[in-house]
This record gives sequence, C-alpha cells and structure tokens, in this order.
Amino acid sequence: MSKPDDTTTETGEESDDREATDGTTGSEAEEGSTPADGETLASGHGASPGIASGTVRIVADTAETDGVDEGDVIVTGMTTPEMVPAMKRAAGIVTDEGGITSHAAIVSRELGVPAVVGTGDATDVLADGRAITLDGQRGTVRAGASGSNAGTGSEDVQTGAGVDGGENGSGSTLAPLTATQVKVNVSIPDAAERAAATGADGVALLRLEHILLATNKTPKRYVEDHGEEAFVEEIAAEIETVAEAFHPRPVRARTLDAPTDELAELIGGEEEPHEHNPMLGYRGIRRSLKEPELCKLELRAFKRLHDTGYDNVEVMFPLPNDPTDVLGARDLMADVGIDPEKRRWGAMIETPASIRNVKEIAECGIDFAALGTNDIVQFMLAVDRNNGAIADRFDEMHPTVLEAMGEVIETCRTHGVDTTITGQAGSKPEMARFLVEKGITSISANIDAVPEVRQVVGRAERRLTLEAARS
Ligand code: PEP
Ligand code: MG
Repeated sequence: MSKPDDTTTETGEESDDREATDGTTGSEAEEGSTPADGETLASGHGASPGIASGTVRIVADTAETDGVDEGDVIVTGMTTPEMVPAMKRAAGIVTDEGGITSHAAIVSRELGVPAVVGTGDATDVLADGRAITLDGQRGTVRAGASGSNAGTGSEDVQTGAGVDGGENGSGSTLAPLTATQVKVNVSIPDAAERAAATGADGVALLRLEHILLATNKTPKRYVEDHGEEAFVEEIAAEIETVAEAFHPRPVRARTLDAPTDELAELIGGEEEPHEHNPMLGYRGIRRSLKEPELCKLELRAFKRLHDTGYDNVEVMFPLPNDPTDVLGARDLMADVGIDPEKRRWGAMIETPASIRNVKEIAECGIDFAALGTNDIVQFMLAVDRNNGAIADRFDEMHPTVLEAMGEVIETCRTHGVDTTITGQAGSKPEMARFLVEKGITSISANIDAVPEVRQVVGRAERRLTLEAARS
C-alpha cells in the first residue's frame, strides 16, 4: 500500500500539528533526545475518534503481538486480521500506511479504539516503550500521557433517545426516530453487540472478507486444508453472530470482495495472481463468477442460516458492472437453493458502468442497491483510495459523484428498489443530509457515527416536511 500524504487530514485540510512548536518534527528515535510532553511526534488521518494515552508497542510483524499489553498503543506499518485480538487489548492504534478505508481504520472504529493511520513514519519516529497520546479525531500523536483515555468503546456508545418499543418493525427496542432508516456497517462479528446497541435499523454491510482473512488462509487453501463443510460452517457461524445480535433487524452480508494483494499476504497467497492494479482487478463478483464453486460455498452459508430461521439475513453482491454480472450472481444463489423471489438480495453499485446500467440492474429482480462510495469515488474520480499522495482528491462530495448517486436513487425508486449507502461517506453529516433530500431508503454509518447521523437525518426530514407544508 502506498504512503499517504502526511500533511493532510482525513478532511483534506492542512494539518498544522505536524511541526513541533520549535519548528522541528519530534524524532527521538533519530536524535536520541526526549521530546517534551505535548510535542507532536507524528500525524496522519484521524481514523477512529477518541483520545488515548499509552505505551508505544512497535509491532513489526504479526508474531509480535503477544507483547501488546492492555492499554498499550500498537504502532505498526499496517494492521492485519491476525492482529485483531491485540487490537482489542490496545488503548490506541497508529499506523504508517493506509487511509480511512484501510483495515486499521475500519477495525479500530468498530472496536471503538482510537486510531491514527497513514502517518508515514510512526514506526520510525516513535520509540518503543515511550508514553504517547493520540487523538483519533485530529490525527495527531503527541509525546506524554494526557492522563485520561476517551475512546468510543461500548461504554461510550450513545444508544439514542425516546424508547417506545420500536414501532418501525425493526425489532429495535429504540424509537424509530426517522423515516429514512439508519443502519450500521459491521466488518468484524466481534463488534456485533456494540453495533446492535446503537439502535441501528439493521446492518447494511457485513463484509465477509474480514471474516475470511481472519482465518489467515486464502479461501482456496482453507477449503483444501479443512474441507468445504468447515468453510461453510466458519462463514455461517460468523454471520450468525451478527444476525443473532440484530434479529429481527435485517443484516446484509456481502460475498467476498478481497483484492489479490491482501489475499497474497495469507497462507496460500503465493497462488494469487500478481496484479498491477488489484483494486481494478480480480475481486468481487467478477472473481466469484470465475470461481463459482467457491462462491457457492459462501452462499451455502447463507442458505444454512435461512434454514435455521435467520430470515433477517440478506445477500449482497459486490462490484457488478451490468445485468449480466447480477444475473450470474442470482443464478449462483438459485444453484444453492436460495430462492431469489423469496429472499431479499441486492447488488452494490460502485462502478461507473453499474451507475449507467442501474435501470437494467434494477430490473434483474434485486430488492436493494447499495452505493459503495469508497469505490465510486475511486473509479469516477480516478483516485486510488489507498494512495495517500492523492488523499486530498478523494472527495466524496464531488459534484460528479453526487449527481451520479442522485440518479441511482431516483432510478431505483421508480423501480421499487431500496437504496442505501455503505461507503465510509455515509457517516458524514453533509452526505447524510444530501441523501435524505434525494430520497434514499437507508443510510449506513460506522458504529460511532450512528447517533449523529440519526440526528442529522431527523433534522433533514423535518426540514423537508416543513418546506413541503409551507409551499
Ligand atoms: C465501498 O466501496 O464503498 C464499499 C462499501 O465497499 P468496500 O469498501 O468493501 O470496497
Ligand atoms: Mg467497494
């Protein structure tokens, strides 16, 4: 993964925190000097909000995570699925690489552990064993312990207001404050309880890749070593954790969408094709259609859950371009005995082709379309989502992107297809406002953003009602 631009924050603003007050960037590792408490040692993208103090634990590879104690701050190049147990123990996470859709960012947000990603040089400039304080909102890492940790762990999650029994039929014990549903993204089943406690109206995206990567084997190698039944059971058990936490609220799980460069890191990864542009490569539905037997194993896990009574589990397919892709996916579902007429299923809309073909895709019988803004922005603006050098151009509010999303929502609405946003941008108030005005069915946010997004959605809906009444 490329190094992000270390002078910009998540919002693309110039960061004034990078320089120490004396004009130098603190680097005790280089100089052997001890920076004063409060001095900025590193900065990057604020990826998971909260302020955390702890002792630096440099983790050069996954095998070293045993040394991470409760309350330490993991400092590493980039986190991997194998590090998740240590990430749960950590007070905070700092990485050299990655943007706000990287593994470290997604997982730390779900765990409620403050994180700063894409610093470029944290593993060089932070000395193992020193005390630091990181600000997961502003993206700064300072010398010294501030004394209080303020993560967004489960004890801090706001659970909304106005309990009245969940008359939206979602099964939530929290009031349905908005007509537009507010859902949540989940990548690690461990975060299911915390996600469910937000009162979200369901899960709009459960990424199977985090579940599978956590086995540390490529799916192909996993099946070779343990057999098909174990593979199906592994997936079914993990989805079940989330489906159970949310039942009867719907949980949309998505078939595998792991780029080859991530799979290459796993046992069996040497068999992965080497690609110059993995994001444009052999991933998502295009891979599933080429390796249907593997995808059918994933789908058998969905079927198993349906058969055991989890009627809230919905199937979603990533990265189609056109109806041929979507119909191919539907056939795979039918092959394993999932009736597309009886079970809710849908497709991600995340390539320019799928945006142009959305009418034809809507006519394939899908129940919902999910706007994957992480990929829409990457592909429409030609901005690699993992390349920090152009992170300031990763503009989810770009007029071209907004216009495209508005069209998708409108077309789907006229075809009776629900729409949602599952990209990172769904957690942004300005995006939530825009989408409510366009008539989206649901918005999905990160766990920590659910309460604010619900407020924003409620206000936007009330304004629309008021304006309609006045006119
Ligand atoms: C997206 O592209 O916005 C999305 C939700 O999918 P992923 O981030 O997994 O590519
Ligand atoms: Mg995507």
